[in-house]
Amino acid sequence: MPTLANAKPRAEEVLARCRRLASFSEDSAGIRRTFLSAPMQDCHREVTNWLRAAGAEVTIDAAGNLRAFYAGAQSSAPRVLLGSHLDTVPNAGAFDGVLGVVIAIALLEALDRRRLPFAIEVAAFSEEEGVRFGTPFLGSRALVGRLDEQLLDTRDANGISVRTAIKNFGLNPDEIPHATLSENSLAFLEFHIEQGPVLDSLHLPLGAVEAIVGQTRMEFIFEGRANHAGTTPMHLRRDALAAAAEWTLAVERAAQTTSGLVATVGQIKAKPCAVNVIAAEARATLDLRHASDKIRNEITAALTREAGEIAARRGLSLRHTVMLSQNAVAMDSFLTAQIENAIRSSGARAHRMVSGAGHDAMILAEKIPSAMIFLRSPGGISHDPAETVLLDDVAKALECGLHLLDQLANSAEFTKRMCRA
Ligand SMILES: [Zn+2]
Repeated sequence: MPTLANAKPRAEEVLARCRRLASFSEDSAGIRRTFLSAPMQDCHREVTNWLRAAGAEVTIDAAGNLRAFYAGAQSSAPRVLLGSHLDTVPNAGAFDGVLGVVIAIALLEALDRRRLPFAIEVAAFSEEEGVRFGTPFLGSRALVGRLDEQLLDTRDANGISVRTAIKNFGLNPDEIPHATLSENSLAFLEFHIEQGPVLDSLHLPLGAVEAIVGQTRMEFIFEGRANHAGTTPMHLRRDALAAAAEWTLAVERAAQTTSGLVATVGQIKAKPCAVNVIAAEARATLDLRHASDKIRNEITAALTREAGEIAARRGLSLRHTVMLSQNAVAMDSFLTAQIENAIRSSGARAHRMVSGAGHDAMILAEKIPSAMIFLRSPGGISHDPAETVLLDDVAKALECGLHLLDQLANSAEFTKRMCRA
C-alpha cells in the first residue's frame, strides 16, 4: 500500500491554498463568501485550475456547486465523492469547508493520475452555512433532489430570490434536476475541521465521525404578573424571570448528568424588562442535541414537564412551541470503520466522535453512504478569523485520505458495493 512520502510539503500547499481562497471575499476587512456572490467566481476559477492540473474535468452545476470528475480504471467505474463547501459565514476563518475541498484536490494530486477501481468526484458545495437565504445546505440539497421550488423562491435581504441569484451567476435554475447525484455514486467522504475542542483536549489530530447529532429547538413562555419591586413581598410574587432562571439551571443539570447531551438556554427575554418591576413574562429558548433521538426526545419531554412544575409551583402559566426537531444522522458504519483503520495507518490513534454541528455529509447521507473525518481545531475555535488547523494534522489527514482510498479499492465489501452500483 503506497504511503505519502512528501505529506508535509503537500500539507503546506493545502494551507497556502486555503489562505489563497480566503482572499476572495465580499468584505475587504475579513472573509465573507456567501452563496453565489462575486468572489465565488474567483474561487471557482482558482479551484478549477488546480483540479484540471490534477487530471480532473470540471463543471459547475445549476446550483453553483463545482463538480470535478477524476476517472477510474474503467469508464464504467462507479464513483466516490470527496468534498465539502466553499461558502463562509461573515468574518470567517480560512478553513471551515474550504479545507475539505482543498484536501480532496491534494488527494487527486497524490494519486498522480493513478487509476482506482472507482472514479472520484470532487464536490465543492456552493452553500452550506445558510447565511444569504437563511436556509442552509442549498448546495448539497441539489445533489439529493431537495432544492425545490419553494427554496428557489426564498429571498435574501435585498429581495433577490435563489432562482435569480442562480441566473445572475450565469447558471440556469431549470437545470437543477441535472445536478442530482450520478446513479453510480457509492459514497461521500468529507474532511472538515472539528469546530470544537474535543480532539484538541485529547491531543489527537483526527477523529472518525460516527453520527451527526439530532437537535431540538423550543421556546418556553412563562407568564406571571408584573408588579412593584419594592412593595410586593416575596411570597406574593408571580415572577416569570425567576421561574425561567430556575428552569435554566434544570436544563444545565440535565445535560451535565446525561452522557453525550448538550443543552443550552441561549436567550431569555423578560417583559417589561425594567430594574424595579417584577417580570410578567419570560421567553426562554432551548437548544438540545444528542446522537440518540430516543434520549433527545425523553430529555426534552422531562424538561418540558419540569418547566410546567416550576410554573405551577410559582403560580405562573406556561406555553411552549417546538421550532425545530431534527433527527440524528448516522454515518455509514462500514465507512467509519474504514476511516478508523486509515487514521491508525497514518500513525494516529483513532477516536470515534459525534458532530454537534450539521454538515453536508448529513444531507448526502439521505441518498448514499456518507462519512466524515474531523481535523483538530486548535483551541476549539471556528467561525472566527482565529480559526486554524495544524500543518502536521493536515499531513496526517492526507496520509489518512490516501490510505482510505486504497483500503476501499482493496476491500471485498466495497467491491461488492461497486458491483451492485
Ligand atoms: Zn463547514
